Formats: sequence, C-alpha cells, structure tokens
Amino acid sequence: MSESSEQVLLADLTWTGMRFDRDVAVHVNSSGVITRVAPATDDDRRRATRLASRALLPGMVYAHSHAFQRALRGRPERFDAGQGNFWTWRDTMYRLVDELTADSLYEISRRCFAEMLRAGVTSVGEFHYVHHVGDSDWVFDGAVLAAARDAGIRLRLIQCYYATGGVGKPLVGAQRRFDGVSLDEFARQLERLHAALDPATQSLAVAAHSIRAAAIDDVARLYETSRAMDVPFHIHVEEQRQEVVDCVAAYGARPLRLMLDRLPIDARFTAIHCTHSDPGDLRELVSRGGGVCLCPSTEGNLADGVPEVEVMRASDARVAIGSDCNLRLCMCEDLRWLEYAQRLTRETSGNVVDTEGRGAPALFELATVHGAASLHLNAGSIAPGRFADFFTIDLNHPSLAGVDAEGLMHAFVFGCGNGPVDQVGVGGVVTGAASRR
Ligand SMILES: [Zn+2]
Repeated sequence: MSESSEQVLLADLTWTGMRFDRDVAVHVNSSGVITRVAPATDDDRRRATRLASRALLPGMVYAHSHAFQRALRGRPERFDAGQGNFWTWRDTMYRLVDELTADSLYEISRRCFAEMLRAGVTSVGEFHYVHHVGDSDWVFDGAVLAAARDAGIRLRLIQCYYATGGVGKPLVGAQRRFDGVSLDEFARQLERLHAALDPATQSLAVAAHSIRAAAIDDVARLYETSRAMDVPFHIHVEEQRQEVVDCVAAYGARPLRLMLDRLPIDARFTAIHCTHSDPGDLRELVSRGGGVCLCPSTEGNLADGVPEVEVMRASDARVAIGSDCNLRLCMCEDLRWLEYAQRLTRETSGNVVDTEGRGAPALFELATVHGAASLHLNAGSIAPGRFADFFTIDLNHPSLAGVDAEGLMHAFVFGCGNGPVDQVGVGGVVTGAASRR
C-alpha cells in the first residue's frame, strides 16, 4: 500500500469507543478499511483531510429495516374503529404492498436509504420479504439491491422466507407477494442474489419472517442454510401476544422456547423485537450467543408493548437497534425511546448504562457495535481492521452550543435530532449526504 493511496482523517474530536479524544489521526487504505488510529504526528497533520469543528464518530447501524414501509409516512393514521393496533396497521401496510411496482419500490427504498445516510446511519440490515411483482419473479429483490447501491449505504440484504399467512394458514391477498415459493427455489434465489451483489458494500443474510409465516421445520432448515453460508439469521419473535397464543396452540410452546428447543442457536441468531418474551427464554437465548434487535420507534407506533430490557442488560445481551417501519429515521430518537419507555414503566432511570454507569455511551454502543455484530459486519467502531464507515457532527450546531467533549455524547443522544450530522462516509468514501449543505 503506497502512502498516496491512503487517506488520513483528522477531526477535532474522535469517538474511540469510550470517549472523545482530541487530535486523533485515522488512517484509511484504498480498500476503505481503517489501518491505524493514533495521536496525530506532524506528517499526519500535513497530509490529513481536516474535519475542523467536527467530531468523528463510527457510522451507526440500523440492523432491521423494511425500506418499502417508508412510503407509509404521510398517510394519515385513521382509527375508524375508534382505536388501532398492530393488526389494523398491518392492513394499511398490505394495501401499500398491493400498490408497489419495481420502479416505485426502487424509489421508495433509495429515498429511505439516502435518508438513513443523512442521519449518520451507514449500514442497514434490510429484512426483505416483498419479493414478487407477478408470479414468483423475485423482481423486487433486484430493486432493493440497486436502491442501496445507488444511495451508497452498506447493505446486509436479509433475504426473508415467508410461506404462511398465520400459523398453518395459506397466503392470501398481498401476502402472495411475499411467497418464499419453496425452500429449494428460495435457495436458488439466494445463489442468484449472491452473484448480483456489489462485493464492496453488499452481502446476504437469511431470515424466516416469523413463526406466523413459516413452519418450525422450515425455520430449522433455513437456520441450517444460514450456517452453511456462514451468514446471520434473523427472525421476528414475539412482537405480538397473538403470535404467542397461536404458537402455543399449534406447537405447545412459545415461539422463542420452540426455537431454542429446535435450533442450534448461536451468535448468528438475532431475534427481532422480543416484546413479550419470557425472561428465562431471553436469558437462554443470550447464554447461547443469540442477540436481540429492538425497534423502539416502531414498537411505539404500532402499540406493540415494552420489552424486558432489564433482563437483556443483566444477561449482557447483544441489543441492536432497528428502524423497522421507517416512519421516523433518527437514531438518537430511537435510543431515547428505548430508555424513556423503561423509565416510564419502571420509574427508574439509567436502564441502559456502561461499566462506568454512563447512559449515552452505552446507548450509542447499541447503535454501533451491537448493530454491526448483529449483521456480522466489520463496522461499528473507529478501529484498525474496521470499515471506514463514519459520520461527523458539527460542533458549532446550535443543539450542541455550550457542550464540552466530556458531555458531547450525552448531548448528542439526549439533546439532538439529525441536525448536527454533517459528513457521512461509507468505506472511506464520503457520500452525497455531505454535499446537501
Ligand atoms: Zn420488522
């Protein structure tokens, strides 16, 4: 590697994992990987791209997204029956699914990913289950890959299998666009997608939608597929009480218990939501290396309920953050929703803290390190060997006026929206997001 192909980033402050350090040089090679993080030398200062009045932070990770649902934003929430819930929201979402074309899905997804980048999110786990325009054509899969590539975000396409419209029920209506067809055809489509990826920024993972949408035998086989491919495996788990009731009726066990009994769960497993999970099941999930992904804004909007964050934290769980329905794309807001929902229901603060008892750095770790771990991406921290995925925040932004380095992460997480987010880089390449000013 010649020095000329290496870039050096030098911000006023750099988040090095536990705190903001001053005058740190971040060396990035031509492959977009960080090679060195160290106090700046005179030579670094001569060559560096100066990020003046900026703090440099690792790009954040939304580990669970359905990009197409971004198109529900702006549709008025109507509660014709007086009140709504997850199931009435799902009817609205199904109407959107019926309207989608390949072009509209591309546009919606590109807009969604571009908005994530502007919010400092550089990687997304796109839990993708809307596959077909017509009859088993998988046309929507290519549209999502193209949208992510054109937006410039790092993508883990979590290709999702969907086969039943409820435990043991056939697919109906809009659900036919989700059809996994068969496990063999689903595997062939994974191979076709693998060949279509942009290897620099795109990779695959495997999902079963939920125990509502796939029989446990199929879930087990899909988990084997993810092990054979050595990629992550994600599944919605216990977001709704009705899912638990239906699963107990069909299998005699709750969804997470059933999977713990039937799957060789390890670090590739991420359970999305776990809103109504049994504490003992959660502890076993974590002890076997599995993790959770919470989607606080969506869980609030869909009236899901409040998860057992205390159990997750006490068992040192990997807890990633998802944007899920993408009604709002602001990681700080998601992190606050996570903490504040616990404060409101438990009447205690400091529900997510690090080893020093600090809240904001611990929450930011969920948004970065834990998200990257859920997607098995070499991202989430500014450290040698990691992708140079980053964002900067403008230290002169009014939301941060009067804040010092010590208080900056607290001010960012608890006091900001997306306003201070400035440049955004994926693999060392600053994206179009930075040129919006
Ligand atoms: Zn979801």
